[in-house]
Amino acid sequence: MKKSDFGFNTKVIHGGQTPDKAYGAVMPPIYQTSTYAQSSPGKHKGFEYSRSANPTRSALENSLASIENGAYGLAFASGLAAIDAVLKLLEPGDEVIATNDLYGGSYRLFERLYKKAGIKFHYTDMRDAGSVSALVTTATKLIWIETPTNPLLNIIDIQAVADLVRGKSILVAVDNTFASPFLQLPLNLGADIVMHSATKYLGGHSDVVAGGLVVNDDALAGKLYFIQNASGAILGPSDSYLVLRGIKTLHVRMQRHCENAARVAGFLKGHPAVDVVYWPGFEEHPNHEIAKRQMTDFGGMVSFNVSGDNYEQAIAIVEKLKVFTLAESLGGVESLAGHPASMTHASIPKEVRLESGIKDSLIRLSVGIEDSRDLIFDLEQALG
Ligand SMILES: *Cc1c(COP(=O)(O)O)cnc(C)c1O
Repeated sequence: MKKSDFGFNTKVIHGGQTPDKAYGAVMPPIYQTSTYAQSSPGKHKGFEYSRSANPTRSALENSLASIENGAYGLAFASGLAAIDAVLKLLEPGDEVIATNDLYGGSYRLFERLYKKAGIKFHYTDMRDAGSVSALVTTATKLIWIETPTNPLLNIIDIQAVADLVRGKSILVAVDNTFASPFLQLPLNLGADIVMHSATKYLGGHSDVVAGGLVVNDDALAGKLYFIQNASGAILGPSDSYLVLRGIKTLHVRMQRHCENAARVAGFLKGHPAVDVVYWPGFEEHPNHEIAKRQMTDFGGMVSFNVSGDNYEQAIAIVEKLKVFTLAESLGGVESLAGHPASMTHASIPKEVRLESGIKDSLIRLSVGIEDSRDLIFDLEQALG
């Protein structure tokens, strides 16, 4: 049996992994070294300097490739460093088409750093895949998809977008941070690049900042390895170890995240103090059918509007939560709550925020893997 034929639960534990060659250590050792002894100039055991390659990082990169069903993985110092490496594939004059409700940090990187490098960005609501076609020109080189989106959990049909540009020399990249490969495999759906903030579900314990890319194409992998080494935003060996360790329980954590989120979403939906609940598992969610087709479950994120749409009231509710911690980020074992209007999306002008549907009363939950009963009691007392 080839390792690529393994099921997902086996891949997270064994994919791309072999016992360490030196002493047979079952867990990959943390090779805390910058350099490697050579027996003669240029003669070494495959490693010469840790920016170029480090065995602990290589173990993580192999694991990333395996779980995303790709051929090559690359690990970076953060999710944004991984996105930055993809953008460095572009030349001045090239154009990018991106989802309009993009992760704020990606938007800032595009608008504040790459626009001045001569890259043109178009933003569109990709829930309508056709809206992408209208923006494609001969200069289009990259499509940037994020699904489910943050914080409203819209779903974009990856295959439909990839089909639109098949045969053209346009790369399709998917930020798979919110879903994780447990729920969705973008390369299988026609994407060329999968990107992760491994800070979130892959790491899974809110103890590391890391990023990753996975691709299938040899030439594309070569270009990205060149950028990774030339720019140097690599992930260190200790952090690589933490992400690898996180990945080994990704499947069991994701199952519980999904179960708990479903219960929390169901509870919120029936609550008189709650207006709209955003969760792709609801049949009435506008993209529910696509979610069912391209994801194996509906994820651990739930957002909701408090009735009355009052900024102060939403803040009072998140302050009252005791099991949910009020904090940025997501994807850890512990439940987190955030208030986008005053936290993650505070830098966006109110009119622009409202245009994309992010009201003052919106609360975003990263549902953890505690007892769902305790999470629901906590929300009940805070909404009280
Ligand atoms: C957090 C996040 C990023 C950025 O990753 P960092 O590890 O914080 O640099 C990118 N995309 C999404 C969807 C995220 O949630």
